[in-house]
Amino acid sequence: MSLRMHNFGGSYRPHPGLLAGGVHQETDGHALHQPVLVLNASYEPINVCAARRAIVLVLKGIAMTEEENGHFLHAARVAMRVPSVIRLLEYRRIPHQSRALSRKNILLRDRNTCQYCSTTLPSAELTLDHVIPRSRGGLSTWENLVACCHPCNRRKGNQLPHEANMRPTREPRSFNLHTSRHIMRLMGHSDDKWRKYLFY
Ligand SMILES: [Zn+2]
Repeated sequence: MSLRMHNFGGSYRPHPGLLAGGVHQETDGHALHQPVLVLNASYEPINVCAARRAIVLVLKGIAMTEEENGHFLHAARVAMRVPSVIRLLEYRRIPHQSRALSRKNILLRDRNTCQYCSTTLPSAELTLDHVIPRSRGGLSTWENLVACCHPCNRRKGNQLPHEANMRPTREPRSFNLHTSRHIMRLMGHSDDKWRKYLFY
């Protein structure tokens, strides 16, 4: 394991200038669960992880900190700045559809909002609708699955969108960080530190 000492930034004590700027010094459990944007070596955003995971990647020399979130992690004799954005040191090939197609991710993409009547509901009250029904040859893909409330799902049944006169309010797309600016809002993270990478 190669520790990249420059990432510790003179680490045994927080930089006094940072503290003077009113930056939090204490790191509580909450800070370790803060979302961290993960960039590929090319600066392309590829993932979001918890700060705890990001710190492990930095300590293992797999990633380096690009932006800090203002918190410090105190562990043993080391004080380390908690990252807000990290970047992998080696480029990783990311398959085109890197995010698993799952109910959870479809609901995340569609912001828990029925794509026919625009009602926002808890996950448990939503289902997935095949825009082109399976019985009509529709596939289970990012482009053919949308979040849907049960009444709309029943109303649409096995009809094609034009037959039911029910079209998704937004064209369903593969979920990725390039197209999903709303991920910042989902995470309550309107941080400029992320913005400049997400609008890449
Ligand atoms: Zn609905």
